[in-house]
Amino acid sequence: MTRELAVLGTASQVPTRHRNHNGYLLRFDDEVILFDPGEGTQRQMLMAGLAVTPITRICITHFHGDHSLGLPGILQRISLDKVPHPVAVHYPAAGQEYYDRLRHATSYWDNADIVPVPASGAAFEAEISVGRLTALPLWHSLPTYGYRLVEPEGRRMVPDLLAAHGIAGPDVGELQRAGRLGDVTLAQVSTIRPGQSFAFVMDTGLCDNVYALAEGVDMLVIESTFLTEDATMAEMVGHLTAAQAGAVARESGVRVLVLTHFSQRYQDASRFLAEARTQFSGEIVVAEDLMRVPFPPRNATG
Ligand SMILES: [Zn+2]
Ligand SMILES: [Zn+2]
Repeated sequence: MTRELAVLGTASQVPTRHRNHNGYLLRFDDEVILFDPGEGTQRQMLMAGLAVTPITRICITHFHGDHSLGLPGILQRISLDKVPHPVAVHYPAAGQEYYDRLRHATSYWDNADIVPVPASGAAFEAEISVGRLTALPLWHSLPTYGYRLVEPEGRRMVPDLLAAHGIAGPDVGELQRAGRLGDVTLAQVSTIRPGQSFAFVMDTGLCDNVYALAEGVDMLVIESTFLTEDATMAEMVGHLTAAQAGAVARESGVRVLVLTHFSQRYQDASRFLAEARTQFSGEIVVAEDLMRVPFPPRNATG
């Protein structure tokens, strides 16, 4: 089972020579989620060697162009490639008119099974194949939702304990399915395997829900549009600085911090790393287009 993030684009507002508009493909076992397809996402997927067929779900934080102008191309491609399964699309319900336009932006033979699932209110939750997907409103110049995916706890069988109880072969599967086998319970021969988690926080000033989304996740993808020298403007327009992103990661106990959505005003991306590093001592990835970021191994107790 593969768990990794493919970065398709990392620019805020406008693409640059080296950074496409946003786009992130999360592979979490069988669930493949495309987040915020900005303009050019279809071609970036080609450059990354990724097909649209595995996509099970699309999550849009908000309807600014750098997060959604690629949606028409991706939806048309899903149709063209005859993707056989339904593809859910999550987006802020307040942006329904933008969704409707992007969904039917041009004429094509539309035979895809696209299922709109808008998010509204103080919290949105959906049970999906790998766990629970939550969307929480953020603080930006138009309605914006961040996303959080949490895999439930599981159990890991311990070979020595199985042997001690004389359980082997098909009995192991039976015990896992039924929760017990004769007098032996699942708890006696297994340990807890913590679930993994992921959060996606785009285009927001600092607010409580940034922390609620990021809490304890294995991987946090978060906008870091600005540097501290422009912190006043960042706050005015509803964006974060790299230092704020680092502080969120520290306070939330994040394992891997992925910084992205960079303003084109800065030439040297190492400055984002330096500023985040003053706040966070864990793993920091300054995202570049077409980069793959693997999920970290399950943590120590798992
Ligand atoms: Zn943006
Ligand atoms: Zn925005």
